[in-house]
Amino acid sequence: MGHARTFWTAWQRARDAGGALVMRMEDLDPDRSRTVYAEAALDDLRWLGIRWHEGPDRGGPFAPYVQSKRRSVYLDAWHKLLAGGFLFPCKCSRKDLEAALTAPHESSSRRSADQRARKAEALDDEPVYPGTCRHREGHAPQLRGPTGVDLESPEGANWRFRVPDGESVEFKDLNLGPQRFVTGEDFGDFVVWRRDGVPSYQLACVADDAAMGITEVVRGADLLKSTARQILLYRALGLRIPQWFHCHLVVDHNGRRLAKRHDALSLHALRQRGLTPMKILSADLPMDTIAHR
Ligand SMILES: [Zn+2]
Repeated sequence: MGHARTFWTAWQRARDAGGALVMRMEDLDPDRSRTVYAEAALDDLRWLGIRWHEGPDRGGPFAPYVQSKRRSVYLDAWHKLLAGGFLFPCKCSRKDLEAALTAPHESSSRRSADQRARKAEALDDEPVYPGTCRHREGHAPQLRGPTGVDLESPEGANWRFRVPDGESVEFKDLNLGPQRFVTGEDFGDFVVWRRDGVPSYQLACVADDAAMGITEVVRGADLLKSTARQILLYRALGLRIPQWFHCHLVVDHNGRRLAKRHDALSLHALRQRGLTPMKILSADLPMDTIAHR
């Protein structure tokens, strides 16, 4: 529901501006991505009456529109960032990061530490990286000389973007107004390529938005901080920065984000219960009310 309303806003804005709406399937996370989910998402959005001009099902000038088929685009961006001295390899495990960031009395099982780390990622509220691998010998900014890593490929380490200290990243959001984040405080060196071989959301999103000629990005306000991170990537890659329109998050009566729920408020469930697209898209917030009508 939350994602559907955001995409609906994107559709309206593209229509009003005489632009094209682009549907891109972001399916890089092997744990969460299944073809059947992708098909179902497209089907739900079509049912809502939203039509996109370019996408996995329609093609377009910048195909493919499925991230799992665009690896070369991300590798190219990774190489450029590496050559520019913006990256360093990080060998910290989740456990290392957890140990560096949590107070001693918060000791707990490894499993729950993993869960907390995952939760932090999901909320875009990951702790500021403590800088453990930042200045490791042999990992100087330009990465010249023996580094112990294969510089032809990002495999085998988490690659982090070297975030400047104490720099203000500002942008004007078309919906929420002026935004300001301070590097090293609001966020630290962030991952652009994961140890398991998957490019991060930040890198893939920037590389694709630039390659696909995206002029305005419409997404949820939970990604404001990611936008600040991505602006650093745009600058490092010498790419034109798009405009941003962050939507208010849709929450239920308990303040929980609808996008994080997979229950009676899923689009599919509401559809099964006979609600019309108009009712779903025009309902007042919070959205729990429409589920009980
Ligand atoms: Zn590290």
